[in-house]
Amino acid sequence: MSMSTQNYRAVHLLDSRTRRDIRRILTSIDLELGSTLTLCGLITMVEKCRQKTLYFEPDTMPAPMTGYCIALRDVDLICVHPYLDSVLTMVVKLHELAHLLLNHLPKWADGTKTPSYSSFVNYRDHFHSSLHYRIRQESAKEQAAEVLATLLFARLHTSRAHCPFTIAQRRELRLLHREYIRLFPSVQLAADRSFLPRVLIEISDARHLLWSTAAATIPVQAGDEAEMIVALCDHPSFPDIPPLFDPPNWKNVDVLQYNLSVANALWRIRSSRP
Ligand SMILES: [Zn+2]
Repeated sequence: MSMSTQNYRAVHLLDSRTRRDIRRILTSIDLELGSTLTLCGLITMVEKCRQKTLYFEPDTMPAPMTGYCIALRDVDLICVHPYLDSVLTMVVKLHELAHLLLNHLPKWADGTKTPSYSSFVNYRDHFHSSLHYRIRQESAKEQAAEVLATLLFARLHTSRAHCPFTIAQRRELRLLHREYIRLFPSVQLAADRSFLPRVLIEISDARHLLWSTAAATIPVQAGDEAEMIVALCDHPSFPDIPPLFDPPNWKNVDVLQYNLSVANALWRIRSSRP
């Protein structure tokens, strides 16, 4: 997997001040955590910056949401949907951490009315409608958090020394990504198919949307998913609609291997057509 952060086109979506902030954050991460970047190291760094403990928790939430962050009176809390695959679980955590690193959240979410952790968890459902969700990159702050999360995701994977994908597999993954983007354009951060970490993130995001709209209860077979993508892509009026159902549980699926199987099945279907 090429994890170079050079020439990542989405960075150029951001204004110069945000680009400077992201460069400064990445430099301090390099200075403090060096080549041993881990999620734990990042969490410690955020806790030090914010002078607050940071909690991570799974939380079931309405289908469009993948995660949220709230600055409570006593702790910062990041919650992630429990059914996401390993790529999305990591990216959602990093996206929320990025909001904290970029100083997008005040110390307390609602001034002196901010609840403590124990009050918040008792009334969590009342807050869901007002909490942020990650899929649509509609504002400058959302774009900035997603760009930083993508760069952190790439860095976290740099320590995996070997490249798990052959040239043919990369070609198939890019085909899968291209077809998924046709179905769910909102998951695309920038028109850039060369940055493989982003390709993997957007495939997982699109799959989350696909199966949230399809009301599937278990992860399907790779061949079925490829058939469904082809059928939907060939349907001229398939809308990019918000998901309606809880997605199936992808927690224990080897998502990189599954992507390759779907991509290979898709490649075979597309190649067999005139
Ligand atoms: Zn966000």
